[in-house]
Amino acid sequence: MTVLVVLIAVVGSRPGGANQGDVAASDPTLQTAEQATASVNSTDSGDDPDPVNPEETVAPETTAETAPTTTAAPVTTVIAAPGGPAWPGPGQVALTFDDGPDPTWTQPILDTLARYNVPATFFVIGSSAERYPGLVTAAVNAGHSVQNHTWGHPYLTQLADDGIAGQLSGTDDLLEGIVGKRPSCYRPPYGAADARVDAVAASVGLTKVMWNVAPNDYLSPPPQAIVDNVVARAGALGPSSPLVVVLHDGGGNRQATLESLPGMIEALSAAGYTFTSLC
Ligand SMILES: [Zn+2]
Repeated sequence: MTVLVVLIAVVGSRPGGANQGDVAASDPTLQTAEQATASVNSTDSGDDPDPVNPEETVAPETTAETAPTTTAAPVTTVIAAPGGPAWPGPGQVALTFDDGPDPTWTQPILDTLARYNVPATFFVIGSSAERYPGLVTAAVNAGHSVQNHTWGHPYLTQLADDGIAGQLSGTDDLLEGIVGKRPSCYRPPYGAADARVDAVAASVGLTKVMWNVAPNDYLSPPPQAIVDNVVARAGALGPSSPLVVVLHDGGGNRQATLESLPGMIEALSAAGYTFTSLC
């Protein structure tokens, strides 16, 4: 499969300024929603679980994810697909970190990745990136990919088209201003994206990137449990199957995530995987 590229005029503008994003990002209901969803999807769903059916929506090798989900979409949707820049190749693993940058956790995670010389992909929240641009710069300077996780972490499916475009374009504008490069990919908060969201994202030039390994690090299990979950999932997906692991460097206490990284990287390396960034 190839990634379909659609060039459509940008329809959105930056969302209503820092206050809106800041309020949304720090709103305690955000945590509440994530915890509530988490309790429903107790397996393999991550902090950004698809509220409907994470497995079917996430698995990129299924037809549902690699083929356009609807022929009625006003524009061709852009999705991550095997063989494209937004999905790893055989034997490759992409560690992805959502919900940062965070003043406590992002830098230690960058330090750990540097120790192992492992590239990763950070899906950042625009309002947080505005507050901590130095962490965005640090990630890019260290060779990581920094991509779009919306401005204020809303359920995009609950927004009008112009709201979706604003959440995405505002974050793109900010990141381009910080690092001089515009994101090409986004990850929808909670994995919540339907054909309409896909179409709007495509219209602003963004490819959706989901995941196929979700060790629920945001629930702060013992670090070894996170490692074991990833290793078991890799085994279930089969030898050399591309892995996209969803982890979190923001949105809560990420000590467990941080402490899981050495074991995770060592285990996957021992199993023959190499590490890559996306987009
Ligand atoms: Zn998120």
